[in-house]
Amino acid sequence: MASSVELHLMNQLLKLSGMKVIDYRIIENIGIFLSLKNTKKQTICPRCGKTTEFLLHQNNLITVRDLSFGEQQVYLKVNRRLLRCSHCSKKFSEDLEFVRERRKYTKRFVRKIIEEVLNSDILNVAKRNDISEQEIETMLKDLGEELVKQKPTNLNKLGIDEIAVVKGQKNYYVVLVDLEKRKVVGLIEKRTTEKITEYLEDWGTEVLSKIKEVSIDLWKSYKSIAEKLMPQAEIVADRFHVMKQVSDELDVARIKIKRETEKIKSKSKKEKILEGLKNSKYVLLKNEKDLNDPEKEKLKEVKKVAPILTEMHGLKEELRDIFETSKDWSEGLLKIADWLKDVSKYFPKSFGTIRRWIGEIIAYFDERTTQGVVEGINNKLKLIKRRAYGFRNFDNFRLRSFLTWDFTS
Ligand SMILES: [Zn+2]
Repeated sequence: MASSVELHLMNQLLKLSGMKVIDYRIIENIGIFLSLKNTKKQTICPRCGKTTEFLLHQNNLITVRDLSFGEQQVYLKVNRRLLRCSHCSKKFSEDLEFVRERRKYTKRFVRKIIEEVLNSDILNVAKRNDISEQEIETMLKDLGEELVKQKPTNLNKLGIDEIAVVKGQKNYYVVLVDLEKRKVVGLIEKRTTEKITEYLEDWGTEVLSKIKEVSIDLWKSYKSIAEKLMPQAEIVADRFHVMKQVSDELDVARIKIKRETEKIKSKSKKEKILEGLKNSKYVLLKNEKDLNDPEKEKLKEVKKVAPILTEMHGLKEELRDIFETSKDWSEGLLKIADWLKDVSKYFPKSFGTIRRWIGEIIAYFDERTTQGVVEGINNKLKLIKRRAYGFRNFDNFRLRSFLTWDFTS
């Protein structure tokens, strides 16, 4: 028998609450075996929900793999007793917090394996840890089921965005983001009102009623969904999406001017303008303050040959400046109203959009909520999607995404 000093040490190393090491053995070439005893005196009956005394029905000794100790594999031997409820007589097997039912490894061992899998691949992790690939698949499935069922906690600012399933195609996954925690809290396979509503309703009013802000792009259905399910929340149009619409319109104008220039009869005039417009996309669309010196020179050349683009570029920069410098919503509103006076001729589309969304756009100035973090999140999601690892369908993609955020935050 092990001495009490040894057992005390073992307990401190093991750190499993409610469990006590009562004996141990080291078996060469296999590992360390710890015999454990459950010190909890009471449990909750899964049928009647009452706290019940343990009435032993049957012993059931199980051996589960735990985190290794140095080079040694560690196994826990524990009695998962079959119990009988003292109130309703239902028989049930004792709930051990650290190991799922019918599994041969502890939850913390599972987490360590999954963490390795997220940075490597299943085959290598299986070899390294002396477990089968199939066991790892099961671990992924178990943990994934838990994660997918989990509801977001303390969600104050929800961002709704989407990523293209295949670049250039019109299919999108909807990405729900906790903007404060910078974390994916939901992934929906199809961007339809029905699917999104169904997914959010699954969270329940408990979660939905606490959301203070919903940040969306300029898609009307998102707005209707937010109004219906989260009536208390302020809806904020993401300023980066507003700017994108303005930039897109500027780019359409640039392409149109280029095409019209091609029709000019005078060769010298035509070539001069085309030379000025060459490689102009980037310098026109990028924030002017971020341009380097050669890019600033290029912008000057563009402006020399294209007065319309000069106007439009100036207006785009002005709007960005309004977003950056306005101190509150009333200042923002006045400045945007002022800005709108000049734009209908150059930006007919954005003019209409901004007028329709003005309430949501100026809501930005209250908390300055944006989807700035979403870009990084979407890049990470694209990376996850590219790494196949046998995760080909949507459920697997979602599972892997949740695992990634669960393990990195
Ligand atoms: Zn009972």
